[in-house]
Amino acid sequence: MSMKTCILCGEPYEGHGHNTAPLHNYKNERCCDECNYTQVVPARIELFFNQSK
Ligand SMILES: [Zn+2]
Repeated sequence: MSMKTCILCGEPYEGHGHNTAPLHNYKNERCCDECNYTQVVPARIELFFNQSK
């Protein structure tokens, strides 16, 4: 299993990682599970509610 570095917290993680959009839109920048759930998902939810206003 190759280790990669999370773009958001800088910690190494295993696996495929997660797309960081809308926080980052660079294709090769991916984040760990924890940052996905604590930062990326809330940002998506916020974006969704902002668009629906
Ligand atoms: Zn992370």
